[in-house]
Amino acid sequence: MPGRSDSIPPFSFTLEGTEGSARAGTFLTPHGAVPTPAFMPVGTQGTVKTLTPDEVAALGGSMVLANTYHLFLRPGHDAVRELGGLHAFMRWDGPILTDSGGFQVFSLARINRVRDEGVEFQSHIDGSRHLFTPERVMEIQRALGADVVMAFDECPPGGADRDTVTRANHRTLLWLERCRDRFRALAEGSPGPDQALFPVLQGNVFDDLRLQQARDVLGMGEWVGLAIGGLSVGESKEDMWRTLEVMDGALPPGSPRYLMGVGYPADLLRAVARGCDLFDCVAPTRNARHGTVWIRDEGQVNLKHARFKLDTRALDPECDCYTCRRFDRAYLRHLSVAGEWLGHRLLTIHNLRFLVSMAGEARARILDGSFEGWTREWLERYEGSGAQDPVPGAA
Ligand SMILES: [Zn+2]
Repeated sequence: MPGRSDSIPPFSFTLEGTEGSARAGTFLTPHGAVPTPAFMPVGTQGTVKTLTPDEVAALGGSMVLANTYHLFLRPGHDAVRELGGLHAFMRWDGPILTDSGGFQVFSLARINRVRDEGVEFQSHIDGSRHLFTPERVMEIQRALGADVVMAFDECPPGGADRDTVTRANHRTLLWLERCRDRFRALAEGSPGPDQALFPVLQGNVFDDLRLQQARDVLGMGEWVGLAIGGLSVGESKEDMWRTLEVMDGALPPGSPRYLMGVGYPADLLRAVARGCDLFDCVAPTRNARHGTVWIRDEGQVNLKHARFKLDTRALDPECDCYTCRRFDRAYLRHLSVAGEWLGHRLLTIHNLRFLVSMAGEARARILDGSFEGWTREWLERYEGSGAQDPVPGAA
């Protein structure tokens, strides 16, 4: 490939410390390093909603996620390529991951027909008809130019029966082979960004199907990183934790593991304890727009509650974010109740900082060997108020 030196691989993952199954590492990409565990802020439309890229960087975000489905529909991947790719378009110099669009096609678009060839869908914006195939999704993600691109997969809904999950696993594997072939051909056939393709491991909460899918995918060859999909889609917490333990035993230690769609604070911590490295979720940004925030000693609270009307304390006295240093709860509550944009911005800053700094502290604790005790204490304080993260998929 032009411009690429064989001696310096554009991607690497270094495991720097472990405690139990928890891992601290560094994922190196062409646009910089991602210290793990890491929460990736979600920039659905090429923007982490309401924040500038400088604000995302200032709160410690190292890698952001953008959505292929949304950017394909608007402004279009060809436009993004013409404008220099996502990094230039968004003015974000750090690492970017794009999803495959599969999740949105299955959940947002007016479906559609799912065939082995691909998925036919109608845009949720204007009803226009499109076909996503594994090959097409690789072409779109190449045009967008993210560092990490995701394979096109079929994610059955939570509660799907064994036959449905078996069929989806089979299709996901066939699609992965087609993704890989097209991805390689594109990388070899044209100049462009260095990218890594992550496969998505499906299997819902069936342990044997999870293990079989892991064996099949790992049997296809080496992967820079692996994604665990099909969780946080409505299954019980118990099923989610058991599935992650099964995956922890089945995946190679030398690759970063991206747990898709998980990002409520206590969930993230419990998943770190089970060997996951990278996370994303719309919860911090979406919750902020509804006045819902996370507080170290109080868990998840809704600021619109009347009890905050005259509360002059910092939102979270232990948080070092701009919002918590500058404003009190009474004012932030007022902004939320009034639906003011500044409120959305300030609460987004706090919620993202809460997760990013929590992942950063988990990393430090893993490295100094105090992760287990710290996690127990963290969860007791956060959940002690009776606050519990919602059931996956319910938010
Ligand atoms: Zn804060």
